[in-house]
Amino acid sequence: MILVYMKATNRCNVGCTHCYLPLEVRADKTRMSRETLSSAAAFLSDMRRYRNGDKVHVLWHGGEPLTQSADWYFKAGELLDRELPGHTESMQTSLIPLRPDHLPLINARFDGLVGTSVDFSQRMIGGSVDAYHKLWQTKVDMARNAGIEVIPGVVPTTNELGREEWIVDWMVERGFAAFNVDRYNAYGTSFPDRPTNRQHARFLDGLFTALMKRMETTGWAPVNGAIRASITGVLFGVGGDRWGGTCMNDFVVVEPDGSLNNCPDKASFEESYGNIADGYKAFAANKFRRKSIRHQALEHKESYCFSCENQHFCASGCPITPNGPAHGEDECSGYRTYLSAVRRFSEQPGGRDTMIAYLNQAEIGSKLEVATRYGGENNQGACAA
Ligand code: SF4
Ligand code: SF4
Repeated sequence: MILVYMKATNRCNVGCTHCYLPLEVRADKTRMSRETLSSAAAFLSDMRRYRNGDKVHVLWHGGEPLTQSADWYFKAGELLDRELPGHTESMQTSLIPLRPDHLPLINARFDGLVGTSVDFSQRMIGGSVDAYHKLWQTKVDMARNAGIEVIPGVVPTTNELGREEWIVDWMVERGFAAFNVDRYNAYGTSFPDRPTNRQHARFLDGLFTALMKRMETTGWAPVNGAIRASITGVLFGVGGDRWGGTCMNDFVVVEPDGSLNNCPDKASFEESYGNIADGYKAFAANKFRRKSIRHQALEHKESYCFSCENQHFCASGCPITPNGPAHGEDECSGYRTYLSAVRRFSEQPGGRDTMIAYLNQAEIGSKLEVATRYGGENNQGACAA
């Protein structure tokens, strides 16, 4: 699947400190023109043709996509339906600017599903995390009252370490059937509250432990894409989420002005990979894109990866996560200590059954399973919504 991060605008007025976009980019009010959108449709039709009819999924991203009106998205959708028939769409939003007129849009165009980021320590309104949560919850309620399924996404900072069980309980108490965890990346910059790879591995371990405990005691636990992918990796050698992807080849990020990249976390920090108006062939031949594909496939792996028990499904994980001590990290980019903990759990009496019961909660292709899959149908993200 071709996954397109389509940015109608980079504008956002929510103001999270861990945002992957620099402040000046978030202040930019430029909106994607119809010409750029039309060029995008032609570009993606071509890309699809060169890839033997691969599916195209357009993820409306930003910036904050809901700073734009529902009408804008309906018109954009009509254009894409006409010029890129057969594509599908979804949206990732903070939900903060959600208005009643957005609700029919989400139901009609995004299959009644919306991905939203939730933050436990940094987003504030009037200096208060609590006030932010209250406002966010009113928007979640507004969406749910319209029959929309809301899937929260968490980017753990060092403030969330050790709070994994609390986070699972928080999701359960608020009735979320699924949630996602994204990695706090620091491509081209650094943040003091970004967990190291070892800390992120411990966070995943804490989450896994809390979810499996809930499975054992209640027979149900919220679906989480990263945890599912680690289980399918360890039990069946099938990666997903940040493990084993080909995002550099499959993802396209389209900025409001048509500039291109292949990773949303890199896009603001690298020279662009050309412009959508230049067409797909120019993008395919772009030397920076080719370099990034080569890096993911070959150069990101370290010698220890070739003898690692996870290598067949890990493929060294997200290619912009530094891979181990040679790159200033305390653990590899596949979070091996976490995968080892999953393997140990599977070998305990009843462990494998609990893990399989967890997987079986969301049938492959069901709404919740798709909403927690990073990178679309083939799990080709080393990395979606
Ligand atoms: S060493 Fe780490 S990055 Fe390499 S294959 Fe194993 S788990 Fe993945
Ligand atoms: S998995 Fe790929 S698209 Fe996702 S953050 Fe890493 S490099 Fe970027």
